[in-house]
Amino acid sequence: MQDTPIYEVVIGLEIHAQLATQSKLFCGDSNLFGGEANTRVSAISLAHPGTLPRTNKKAVELAVKLGLACECDIEQNNYFARKNYFYPDLPKGYQISQHTSPICKGGNVRITTTAGSRAVRLNRIHLEEDAGKSLHDQHPTKTFIDLNRAGTPLVEIVTEPDMYSAEEAGQFVAEIRKLVRWLGVSDGNMEEGSLRCDANISLRPAGSQTLGTKVEVKNLNSIRHIKKAIEYEISRITALLLQGQPIIQQTRSFDADNDTTFALRDKEEANDYRYFPDPDLAPFVISAEALESYKASLPELPNALHQRLLQMEELTEYDAQQLSDDLHTAQYFEEVSLYTSNKKSIANWILGPLRQWLNDHQLNFSQVPVSPANLAQMIDMIESGELSFSTAVSRLLPALIKEKKSPRELAETLNILQTANESLLAEWIQEVMNKMPDKVQEYRKGKKGLLGLFIGEIKKISGGKADPQKVTQLLQEKLNQP
Ligand code: ADP
Ligand code: MG
Repeated sequence: MQDTPIYEVVIGLEIHAQLATQSKLFCGDSNLFGGEANTRVSAISLAHPGTLPRTNKKAVELAVKLGLACECDIEQNNYFARKNYFYPDLPKGYQISQHTSPICKGGNVRITTTAGSRAVRLNRIHLEEDAGKSLHDQHPTKTFIDLNRAGTPLVEIVTEPDMYSAEEAGQFVAEIRKLVRWLGVSDGNMEEGSLRCDANISLRPAGSQTLGTKVEVKNLNSIRHIKKAIEYEISRITALLLQGQPIIQQTRSFDADNDTTFALRDKEEANDYRYFPDPDLAPFVISAEALESYKASLPELPNALHQRLLQMEELTEYDAQQLSDDLHTAQYFEEVSLYTSNKKSIANWILGPLRQWLNDHQLNFSQVPVSPANLAQMIDMIESGELSFSTAVSRLLPALIKEKKSPRELAETLNILQTANESLLAEWIQEVMNKMPDKVQEYRKGKKGLLGLFIGEIKKISGGKADPQKVTQLLQEKLNQP
């Protein structure tokens, strides 16, 4: 029996996603990850006096698309503000961000957990630039600065305190990652820091409506770390509360070596960043036409696709969920569907042998080496009994991957086509029956289990080319007429 928990956890997330633009947010420097240190740094990234930033339109477009996909209200009249603070990797002494009026307001993201499906409310999504990086591991006593990342475009997605377990928070980040990739807003790569998360966590007596004092665990860069950090905080704060100790509002960091967190600093009061509108940047307006065109360019979203796939009778919940998990997989499924109506077989091939092959070669579904038309033809050949599924997987698929020929041509060359040709099948059946007359006797006396033995023999002498369905039918007819 499980005790009713005394405390309930409440979680709000702040997720930074690096936008998939070519250039930085306010200048033409490359926005690629990494590179030799300090090679993607024009005078603007370096904050030389007299340089002027200009807003990257593509970044604005990507932020709006994400907002639309999350059902946010889009702010058409925007401005950038300076958030002033000192940090060695922040050459300007301020970060350009948005302040009182984010580009996307409200909205929600639907998550599905073991407890069911529900919408998590967003507070806002805003645009801002990233800072550079301090490198502490290059020299025993010195810290180095790499400004390649300075000025790269980010969206910050801020949720309401609206998640109630580590599982929900992990699922939320998984949904965001799926969505930004789906929309081409970000590559969502957590190992490279393109997607990173701060988790705000508090506990309150179960059933209470007021929020407890929160701690913030910074810079979590995997879903596993997010869940582990939350689980650790739940047990740490529960222990403090049970001892009657006060909870201090803190900023903490995750230690991946032992799945714990440690305090970075206490947050006594709100920071004063002296925000003010950036005088070097004109306000940017999203026109009604631009907004309409962004709306029109949105692809079908994963949830809508998931629902549509569920309507297809042949497909299971698992199929629908897996096929709508990433845009390339979904697109490949749709393309193959143009050539064959055999939806279940398409799903089986995609989620089985093809995905296996792509995983083994570290590729994704934008790089499938089998054209949709060829996969469809192979599926139809199996369906019509010309080819067995196992032979298709073991022999035809590798050939299709290697050679740019049609499945039919290759199957002929490989001599693996099954035959439903009745006179040929009858010959093989006769041959096997002649070979084992006693077994035929036994079968006729009632030992029906011998059927499999005959079929196995026919398969052998036909070199796997006898259509098993047709063979079974003809063989039974033959055996049943003495
Ligand atoms: P701050 O000013 O400390 O950054 P915000 O009010 O801007 O705090 O909220 C930042 C994030 O923290 C949001 O995602 C919000 O949902 C979450 N949050 C705020 N208060 C709490 C709380 N008591 N418990 C859990 N999460 C919270
Ligand atoms: Mg904050």
